[in-house]
Amino acid sequence: MNPLYAALPPTIFATMSARARATGAINLGQGFPDDGAPQDVIDAAAAALTGGRNQYPPMWGIPELRSAIAAHYAAHQALDLTADEVIVTSGATEALAAAVLAVVSPGDEVVMFQPLYDAYKPLVERAGGVARLVRLEPPHWTITAEALEAAGSARTRAIIVNSPLNPSGAMLSADERKLLADFCIAHDAIAICDEVWEHLTFDGATHVPLMTEPGMRERTIKIGSAGKIFALTGWKVGWMCAAPPIADVLAKAHQFLTFTTPPNLQTGVAYGLAKDRSYFDDMRARNQRSRDRLIAGLTGHGYAVLPCPATWFVTVDLAASGIAMTDTEWCEWAIDAVGVAGIPVSAFYDENPVTNVIRLCHAKTDATLDAALARLGGRPK
Ligand code: PMP
Repeated sequence: MNPLYAALPPTIFATMSARARATGAINLGQGFPDDGAPQDVIDAAAAALTGGRNQYPPMWGIPELRSAIAAHYAAHQALDLTADEVIVTSGATEALAAAVLAVVSPGDEVVMFQPLYDAYKPLVERAGGVARLVRLEPPHWTITAEALEAAGSARTRAIIVNSPLNPSGAMLSADERKLLADFCIAHDAIAICDEVWEHLTFDGATHVPLMTEPGMRERTIKIGSAGKIFALTGWKVGWMCAAPPIADVLAKAHQFLTFTTPPNLQTGVAYGLAKDRSYFDDMRARNQRSRDRLIAGLTGHGYAVLPCPATWFVTVDLAASGIAMTDTEWCEWAIDAVGVAGIPVSAFYDENPVTNVIRLCHAKTDATLDAALARLGGRPK
């Protein structure tokens, strides 16, 4: 077997969810909501399913969805994408794989940032690329010019950027966007931007795509996911957007991964993306309330919660909470002793991990959050 995959452990998300299912623990580990999916979006997909939209759709995605994605980004992020620059994929995961396969040749270096989403590095290495890791630190997880420059070389082919960032919820500042754009232009590199959390921003913050920086429109692959926007993680409908010379090659990688994505689900997502702005504002407000409920409860129990401006996640600094445990030890304690599953942030590091931060998912009903908080009241000392 290929040694890279043969040596990989199962992802921490699958492991923790399986343990939560087996033990009956409340699962605040893997990021998925237990409520809040829009019924009309589900109905639109169901109508397409029963109405007979069940054969291979076009390889690039159904025209309605490609147009809806371009129109959605024009309305919400002032982007000037056309439908021809959009490829529908089976989740952001497939878009990431297609982007890496289309961009990276053996020996190419790809800059990525720790904490990093677990798919990035294996995908790059399987494509023959070399990961150049930049380490980010709590509480603000800021990218510095020195660290970025140190990771660049004459072989830099691409960067992979996740903003808003899973697990921390950090969002790129204007200075960081400029830094990354300057770096890509100086190294003639492509930016693969994982923006699946773009709509889950709180306290009035809005997501600004790296693609809007001067010089980046022609060198950015912007990746999104309906799973996060509509709280429908099991649908696995995603997309990638890029200027035509890049998009043409992305489509060739996509055609041999999944070729297409279920057309009925695409129809539902096209309907959903065209929803009124108030839908997205309400969704954000609902998620902000659940974030604040979890933060208030954790703070009440003496946990030191880090700034969490975006995503479905809240992070806690254990050391600052007066808990002398590593993140992994705490997660073992929480699932075994009190029945709550969380994720150790060290799992998002490939080397030299931050070991004092845990991630909990707040995208849950009040009842689920309150039950988890009641259990976490008996915190370890
Ligand atoms: N990138 C990031 C940063 C994510 O958090 C996730 C989902 N957890 C994905 C990609 C995968 O998205 P999808 O489910 O659409 O494949």
